[in-house]
Order: sequence, then structure tokens, then C-alpha cells
Amino acid sequence: MFYISTRGDAEASSKKTFTEILLGGLAPDGGLYLPESYPQVTRAELARWRDLSYAELAHAVLSRFIDDIPSSDLKALIDKTYTAEIYCNGRDPARAGEITPVNWLEPGLGLLELSNGPTLAFKDMAMQLLGNLFEYALAKKGEEISILGATSGDTGSSAEYAMRGKRGIRVFMLSPDGRMSAFQRAQMYSLQDANIFNIAVRGVFDDAQDIVKAVFNDHDFKARYRIGAVNSINWARVAAQVVYYFRAYFAGTRSNGEPVAFAVPSGNFGNICAGHVARMMGLPIGELVLATNENDVLDEFFRTGLYRPRGAADTWTTSSPSMDISKASNFERFVFDLVGRDPAVIRELWGNVDAGGSFDLSMTPYFSGLRKFAFVSGKSSHADRLATIRRTYEKHGVMIDPHTADALKVALERRSARMPMLVLETALPAKFEETIVEALGRRPERPAAMTGIEELPQRVEVMDVDVEAVKRFIAEA
Ligand SMILES: *Cc1c(COP(=O)(O)O)cnc(C)c1O
Repeated sequence: MFYISTRGDAEASSKKTFTEILLGGLAPDGGLYLPESYPQVTRAELARWRDLSYAELAHAVLSRFIDDIPSSDLKALIDKTYTAEIYCNGRDPARAGEITPVNWLEPGLGLLELSNGPTLAFKDMAMQLLGNLFEYALAKKGEEISILGATSGDTGSSAEYAMRGKRGIRVFMLSPDGRMSAFQRAQMYSLQDANIFNIAVRGVFDDAQDIVKAVFNDHDFKARYRIGAVNSINWARVAAQVVYYFRAYFAGTRSNGEPVAFAVPSGNFGNICAGHVARMMGLPIGELVLATNENDVLDEFFRTGLYRPRGAADTWTTSSPSMDISKASNFERFVFDLVGRDPAVIRELWGNVDAGGSFDLSMTPYFSGLRKFAFVSGKSSHADRLATIRRTYEKHGVMIDPHTADALKVALERRSARMPMLVLETALPAKFEETIVEALGRRPERPAAMTGIEELPQRVEVMDVDVEAVKRFIAEA
């Protein structure tokens, strides 16, 4: 299995193996990595996979994408990742071994639980594996890495919990001082592991993000201190997410061939991109329902063919904050497939995007061909979110978080009697107490391991918005 860039050509010299792209981010030409072709899964294989445990299924699926790690080593890494101990925050401990159980609200409508990991958000599904893959790959090469990132919540804590205590890895995570919830702060800052460094910047998220970009643009510093990233364009994260679409498909059907719809609350297009990949591999996904919040750049594209990334001034802060994006960093992967995998087209389209512009496919055959890819879309507002949280609680006695509510709202509009609808639950309500209280007038339950974490001692360095100070901190840590 070789990987190519969405902006490059398929010449042998540009092909990479999985471990060669594991620790990197963008391809050198600015594109994203994708498999040269999608591995195909036969009906006979699907039948065999139906009864596998989560870890066994992950090994079967990921072996198709990772062929330069010995199979037994890959199996050991997967077995130590997908355990009932790590994914134990589910509301029903008896089901923790299922890793991603489906909570059926009514016949034909289920919540796919993806947030039972250590930080209560779906990012743990891939990030926990990434931590183990990174540690393994670095030890093999005798190398070390310093991961640098900026976070306004879910990604940072997920990365820290995945990398804590890992050999050869240090994490420097910037966050906006005083702008995350007390719970989110406690989740990150209470980690006492020697390889985790929290830096609170006296500014907003964009200031933190700009510092990270500035450090990455200092190529000497980046090479000297081996600075890396774990952002959502990392291919291994997408690949790890493919597994739960297979798992959920089996949970939603009795036999292979029946179609299933998935509704996905989307920001950077990472989660739903994995659904697209699963479908391209031959999984009978009938519909991929993309849901956005008020930041509707993706909904606009799927409705009209116009992809129009927004500026900071047009990016709203909403009550589903993990979907507050101005452009969708994984979207290029899907468009590459949409335009028949022609890198010249991608170079042209993203030439505009990278220059701050947009592109419009509405008058092209690509847009009419969109139907083949089974996507539909919709959006949700703050009022929709509250109403959906309320309705779900009243009707089913189930509390859902605001992001899951965005997906459920669109799922209900798009649902048909022809196939079951699975809504991806991307966070537990405990992470977003304020919005739950606004919707229901009561607090969500917290998993036992998280009660009182706000009282734990915190380890965080508060700094001005100063690139040089951050570099000094990394150099001296
Ligand atoms: C990251 C995140 C999303 C968006 O996922 P993408 O892969 O960026 O589309 C949705 N919900 C929650 C809770 C998240 O943390």
C-alpha cells in the first residue's frame, strides 16, 4: 500500500509507505496523503468481519492500510489501544467491551457511542491509537518528537491523554488563557506527566494558533527540536476512524448488503471522511448525512457546489464549539475523489483557496456526479440544538451533547424508512454542561473518574502572545 498526495502525481518517487507519512503532516507539495487506491472488501470478508471484536476488526481493517509494520506488532498496538479499561466511560459499564456500542433510541434510529474514551470525545478513538503508533515508530528509528499544537478544547486534551507517559514524545499544547470551561482546563492542566507541557496564552485561540504557525515556519527551529503535529489531517487518524463505520454497520444490520445511513456532526471533515473511505472500500453505506452548525461552509458546498472558506470575522463562536471552523482541512481528500483523482484539478481549486478565495463546482459535471458519493447535508442553529437536546431527553430519556444534537437534528430531517440511521455521538454531555443546563435546567451526569477534577492541582505555564518566549520554553524544557 502506497500513499500519494492530492496535489502531486503518481510517480514512484512521490509514493510513500504508511510509516513514512505517519509522523508528517502535509505532503511537501501542500497536499494531503491518500492511499493510491482504496483497498476493496469483498462480501465474503464482510461476512467474516461481522462477528469480530473491536480490536480484531481494527486489525483486519487497518492491515489494509498499514503493510510496513509487522502484522503481529500492529496487532499488539491495537490490542493495547482498544480495551474496556480505556473506553470505559460509557453509561453502561457492562457494554464497555464493545468500545463503540449503539444506543437505539427507537427502531431504526441509534446513537453510535464514540465518546467513551478518556476525554469523553470521539477524537480519542483515533488519538489513542496514534499515541501507540508514534511511540512504536519513534523507538524503531531511535528518534524523538515534540508535538506542538493549539487547542480550544477537544483536540488538545485528546492528544495529551494519548501521548502522556509515552517514550520519545513530548507535547506542548497552547490554549487561550481563561477561555476554556473550568472542566476543559482541569482535564488538561491537571495532568502531571513529565512529557506534557500546557501553555496558556494571554490571548484568544487564533493568537495561540498563530504562534504555532510561526514556530512551524521557522524551519531551522522545527528541524532542530523535531517539532511535529497531530492535527486532523493526519492520515492515521482518518484510517483509525474507518473501523467504527464497519463496526456500526454490523450493529445496524442483520446481513451484508442492507444499506445504512450515518449522520455526522462535521467540522474539519475528518470524521465523515472516514465514512467516505469506508464506503469506497465497499461497505454498503446508503447515505452520509453531513451536519454543520452555524459555520455552514460544508453544508453550503453540498447544497450549491460553492466552497467558500470564511475569514475569522465570519466564523461564529457557537454552542457546538468543536465544529466552529472557517475551512475544513480534510475536505481536499474528498474533492480529490470527486474530481476523478486528478491532482491538476486540485492544484487549481486549492490555488484559489490557499490564496484566500473560493471555488464553485455548480456548473461542472463534478457537481452532478456528487450524487454517486451518497452525501446529503443540513445545518443546525443554537435554538435547534437546544430543542433537539430537550426533545431527546423528554422522548427517550437520553442526554446528548450539543454536537451530537446538530447531527440528530439533520438526521431526523433526512431519515427514510428504507434504511436505519446511525447518528455519531461525538462527545458526552458532561463536557458541555452550560448548554445542557440551558436546554434542560439540570446538569449532565459525569463519569465517576471525572468528578471533582476541577479541585486537582494544575500544571500550566501562562505566557504572553510571544513566539520567541514559546520557542525558548520548548528549547529549555
Ligand atoms: C472534532 C469534533 C467534531 C468535528 O469532527 P471533524 O472530524 O472535525 O469533522 C465534532 N464533534 C466533536 C465533539 C468534536 O470534538
